[in-house]
Amino acid sequence: MSRATTTRRSTAPSHGSARYAELRQMLESETLARVTAALAHLEAGTYGRCMECGGEIAEARLRALPFASRCRDCEDAVERTRERQRNGSRAGLQPSGPGDTPDRTRR
Ligand SMILES: [Zn+2]
Repeated sequence: MSRATTTRRSTAPSHGSARYAELRQMLESETLARVTAALAHLEAGTYGRCMECGGEIAEARLRALPFASRCRDCEDAVERTRERQRNGSRAGLQPSGPGDTPDRTRR
């Protein structure tokens, strides 16, 4: 249900390009960090707990994402914030409030 944002169609980085290497490094370090964190949680006995709200992470989610550190609600919230920051820094101002259409004020 909450998979509405699959419309990101930016240019795919070609293999061997600088962007590819950059992305690859970023992904690798992020994955590593996540796995390390999950292992630490396992050691501490807090595995399967959301790091934001402390609630339990659904088992189905853990099966799909064994190193998930947030429940779905919190992950969604974080993703939304990140997306907003990305859009904000890249495309400048993007009013997202309802009824905030700039077209109307023109006519
Ligand atoms: Zn949570």
